[in-house]
Amino acid sequence: MQRSLSQKVYADACGVIPGGVNSPVRAFPGLNMTPLIAERGEGDTVWDVDGNAYIDYCGSWGALILGHAHPSVVAAAVSQVENGSTFGMATPFEHALAAEIVRHLPSIEKIRFVSSGTEATMSAVRLARGFTGKSVVIKFDGNYHGHSDGFLIRAGSGVTLLGAASSQGVPEDLVKNTVSLPYNNIDSVRTFLRTQDNIAAVIVEPVAGNMGVVIPSKAFLEMLREETSKIGAVLIFDEVITGFRLGLGGAQDYFGIVPDLTCLGKIIGGGFPAAAFGGPCEIMDYLAPQGPVYQAGTLSGNPVAMCAGLATLHEVQKPGFYAELERKTKIITEPVSKVAQVITLGSMFTLFPPHYKNLFLQLFERGIYFPPLQYEACFVSSAHTEAHLEATRDALLEIFNNLI
Ligand code: PLP
Repeated sequence: MQRSLSQKVYADACGVIPGGVNSPVRAFPGLNMTPLIAERGEGDTVWDVDGNAYIDYCGSWGALILGHAHPSVVAAAVSQVENGSTFGMATPFEHALAAEIVRHLPSIEKIRFVSSGTEATMSAVRLARGFTGKSVVIKFDGNYHGHSDGFLIRAGSGVTLLGAASSQGVPEDLVKNTVSLPYNNIDSVRTFLRTQDNIAAVIVEPVAGNMGVVIPSKAFLEMLREETSKIGAVLIFDEVITGFRLGLGGAQDYFGIVPDLTCLGKIIGGGFPAAAFGGPCEIMDYLAPQGPVYQAGTLSGNPVAMCAGLATLHEVQKPGFYAELERKTKIITEPVSKVAQVITLGSMFTLFPPHYKNLFLQLFERGIYFPPLQYEACFVSSAHTEAHLEATRDALLEIFNNLI
């Protein structure tokens, strides 16, 4: 594979961008190679600046459920760009997307749009603290809720690369009200919740996607629902990945559990920067301008992102969309699970081989792009072709058979 232009672009970027990237995992940490420098995407494929093609299972970290440059998303976005890309004013498009989301997630009566998942979880926690008048936030080891200060303890995803529990630059004082507990451990978490007062919120990835895919027991989530209700704490489901990924109703519908607040991101922006948090009026009306909890954003509810999100949600509502996505995913996961450990739900999966780096490199050489870190999920989109899924399956089987 010839990658000389990628090498040059990356070397130049390193001169003006820290580590050459705008989000750490993109630098392929620990892999000792030039990262993928993407130039173009179409359907299930990404081309780098040297013209090499890769079947993409990152899908912008789960945002691209329809694949790259889906025609109806492109048309919706282009049409809005031509009419103005941002106003800093209310638009009908944010209302349309809000109404669409509220229709599918009964736990949400009102929703506020922001520009990133980080903002959504940060704002949801602020709202929970404002609403309850309490301070402590419980999160779970290996769950990732973005990079706001209060969450940077024992987080999953790229934070694991730091080799420390947390990031430097986050004073103890800022995380003293965050407690990280073991994920999916019913007894210890229940005991903790029962013995502490001052808990404002419990935030959880209802299916973890940031330590690889990890599916908790329904009983764990039910326990969280029960105990938070008893102590008057706000239960926040971080569905930034799972929202509109596991189905129209997300993980909360899959498990049949109603959280107080839900954070969404990725898919709802159709590949543009949009995220949101929502819940019942009783809590959401605590937000400014109605209530005392401040939250704002220049590009919040950006009209291009709203229109792209609407076009995306329109597509995923077509009959059989999610069943087809799962069928496609199984083309890979079913045969591969016979030779390697695979955890999968819907169109998300993670392979847990002994040497992930080795697997990643061998796939990369074959033009198949998996996330460069073990602790991430692979995503299948509706644009993945049968031929590409089968080629990926065959490559994985060949690699695993050689490893054994
Ligand atoms: N929450 C979850 C579950 C995520 O997976 C992520 C990002 O991957 C975030 C929050 C943060 O979202 P963003 O990267 O848009 O800030």
